[in-house]
Amino acid sequence: MTQQQDSKQDGGTSAPVSRRRFLHVAGAAAGSVAVGTPLRAAAQDATPAISAMAGELASTTLPSSWDQETDVVVVGSGAAAFAAAVTARQAGAEVIMLERAARPGGTTQVSGNEYWIPNNSLMLAAGRPDPREDAIKYMARLAYPQLYDPELPTLGLHERNYDLIATFYDTGSVAVDAFEEWGALYSRVQASFGYSPEGDFADPDYSADLPEDKAPYGRGLQPDPDRGEGGTIPDQMGAWTDQNGVPLLTEHRVVGVFQNGAGEVVGVQVETGDGLAAIRARRAIVFGTGGFTQDAVKSLNYLRGPIFAGCGVPTCTGDFVDIGLALGAQFGNMNQAWWLQGPLELQLQSPSLTGPDIWMPYGDSMVIVNKYGDRVTSEKMPYNERSQTHFYWDPPRREYRNLVQFMIYDEAVAQDPTEFAFRYPVPLPDDSSDLVISGDTWEELAANIDARLDSVRGQGSISARIGPDVRLADDFVDRLGATIERFNSFAETGVDEEFARGSTPIQIAWGGGTERFEQLANPTMAPFQAEGPYHCVLLGGMTLDTKGGPKTDTGARVLHANGQPIPGLYGAGNCVASPAGQAYWSGGGTLGPALAFGYIAGQNAAAETEKVVD
Ligand SMILES: Cc1cc2nc3c(=O)[nH]c(=O)nc-3n(C[C@H](O)[C@H](O)[C@H](O)COP(=O)(O)OP(=O)(O)OC[C@H]3O[C@@H](n4cnc5c(N)ncnc54)[C@H](O)[C@@H]3O)c2cc1C
Repeated sequence: MTQQQDSKQDGGTSAPVSRRRFLHVAGAAAGSVAVGTPLRAAAQDATPAISAMAGELASTTLPSSWDQETDVVVVGSGAAAFAAAVTARQAGAEVIMLERAARPGGTTQVSGNEYWIPNNSLMLAAGRPDPREDAIKYMARLAYPQLYDPELPTLGLHERNYDLIATFYDTGSVAVDAFEEWGALYSRVQASFGYSPEGDFADPDYSADLPEDKAPYGRGLQPDPDRGEGGTIPDQMGAWTDQNGVPLLTEHRVVGVFQNGAGEVVGVQVETGDGLAAIRARRAIVFGTGGFTQDAVKSLNYLRGPIFAGCGVPTCTGDFVDIGLALGAQFGNMNQAWWLQGPLELQLQSPSLTGPDIWMPYGDSMVIVNKYGDRVTSEKMPYNERSQTHFYWDPPRREYRNLVQFMIYDEAVAQDPTEFAFRYPVPLPDDSSDLVISGDTWEELAANIDARLDSVRGQGSISARIGPDVRLADDFVDRLGATIERFNSFAETGVDEEFARGSTPIQIAWGGGTERFEQLANPTMAPFQAEGPYHCVLLGGMTLDTKGGPKTDTGARVLHANGQPIPGLYGAGNCVASPAGQAYWSGGGTLGPALAFGYIAGQNAAAETEKVVD
C-alpha cells in the first residue's frame, strides 16, 4: 500500500510535513472539542469570530504606512493558494503567502492529495484519449443535473457555469504540465486501490457508468514522492516556493482588505501574534482560504443539509465569505459541499474530523439502515452521493429520518482478514474499536444501539443534534429482519432490486474487497449469517468541506454583485463558488479545480498593473 493509500484510509493525518521552510511551525492544527460537548459550546469553539479591522472587513481608509509590500498577496496555503503562489512567482511577481494556522498546508496537507485532471498528459501517453465535448458533458451533467440537456446551447447550464467547466477542461492539464516543467509538482497516475478492472493503472471515475464518461480511467493524479520533495501538494510546492523566495508567514490571519478610491484591492490587514499588520499588494490578492464548515453558524444557514462534522481543518471558517460580503461580491453554490459520512460518535467529539472518515463502507454482508430498519441507498455508492441521504426530509413525519444511520454487519465481515484501504471503521479480527456496538441476537444488538444513542443524547455538532427523536423505531427489529431477508435474496441472485448495489465500476473497485468476493454472485453482497453476533457503527453526515463562496469568472477574478470583477481580487479552491456545482466528478474532484483555477489566478494576478495607494 502506498503512503497515499494509507493516508486516505486514515484520513492522511500521517502525511509528513516538510517544515524547515515555514516560519512558525507548531504541532497539529488546534481546535477539537471535548467529548460530549453540547452543540452550543461546540459551535462557539468552532466559530472564532473574524476580527475585522476597526469593525470593517473592507476599508477604504488606507494605513499611513505598510508593514510589508509585495506584488501579489496569496492568502492560505492549501492547493489553491500554492498553485497561485507558484504561478505568480514563476511569472516574475514578488509573492507573500499568509496562513492563519500554525501549521501550513490546510486541509490539502491532511488529504489523500489526489487531483482529477481531465485530458492530462499521463493518460494521453497511456493511449487514453479524453475528448473535450464528452468530458464537458460528463462534468456538466453531474454539476447541474436539474438543468442539463445535451441538446441545448451550453448544455442547458448558465453560461458562466458552462464556461468554468470548459475552462477547467482546457486549463487543468496545462497547469499540471507547467508545474511539472517548473519542478513545482511532479505527478503520477493515482494507483488503483486494488480491485479495478484496469489493474494497476487506476480506479474508475465515480460515475464511469454514465454514457458521457468516455475516459473513465487515468484522470486522477497524485504527487509523485519519488521525484518531488514529499508526497503532498503543499510539500512539493512548498519546497519550490522556498527555493524561489516566497515567504510563507504562518499564524497570519487576513481579517480585512483595503481598497483604494477606484475600488481596487490594494492590501490586507492581518492578525498576527504581535498584533495587526498591514501588507500592501501592489498588483493583486488571491484568496485560497478553504471552505466554511468549521463555522457552525454559516453551515447551519447556508448548507442544504444538517451535518455533524467536516474533515476540513479547524481554521476553515469561511473568512472569505465575510470579506466577500463586505466587498459586495456575488455568491454562488453556498448550499453545496463535498459530502462525506463519518462515525457519529467521533463527529460528536470534534467538528473537525480530519482523519477517520468513511469513504466506502466495508463488507459484503453489510447494510446501512435508518432508525426504521430500512436501507436508504446502495451502501457502495461513493461518499458524495451516499452521504446526501442523511438530508432526506420525511414530510409526513416532519423529520430527517436518515439523520443518523446504522452500518450493520455480521461476524463473517468482522472476521474477514482483508487489509483494505477502505476497511475503516471495521477493525481487523484481532483488533477492536469502541465505535462498534455488538449483540448476539438482533434484539440484543438493537437494545445496545438504543443504549448507545442514549449515551450521546442531547449532544450535537455543527448543525445537528442527537435529539429526543433519534432512537430506533419500536418495530425496528421486525423491519430490519425484513430488510435483511430481502437483502439476502438479492445477494443470492446478485441483483440488488432496490438500489442496484455493485452495478457500477467504482462500487466494485472500492466496494468488493473481501476474501470471498470472487465466489459471490455480486462481489459487494453476501447473505447475512443466520446466527449472531451482529455489529453496528453509528454514522452521521459531514463534509470534506464546503464549496460555495464569492463567484469568480473564468480568469478566477472575484465578481461584484454588479457583474464586474472586483479589481485586483482573485479566488480559487473551496473558498469560492466551485465550478463543480453539486458534483464530485471523481477522486481528486476538489483538488483538480483548486490547482487549475489557482494557476489561472496566479497568472492573471502577476499580470495586473500596479495599483495606486495615495
Ligand atoms: C482526509 C481527507 C482526504 C481528502 N482526500 C482528497 C483527495 O484525495 N482529493 C481531493 O480532491 N480532495 C480530497 N480532500 C478534500 C481536500 O483536501 C479539500 O477540498 C482541499 O484541500 C481544499 O483545498 P483549498 O486549497 O481550497 O483549501 P485548504 O487546503 O483547506 O487550505 C485553506 C487554508 O487557508 C487557511 N485560512 C483560512 N482562513 C484564512 C485567513 N483568514 N487568513 C489566512 N489563512 C486562512 C486555512 O488555515 C488553510 O490552511 C480530502 C480531505 C480530507 C480531510
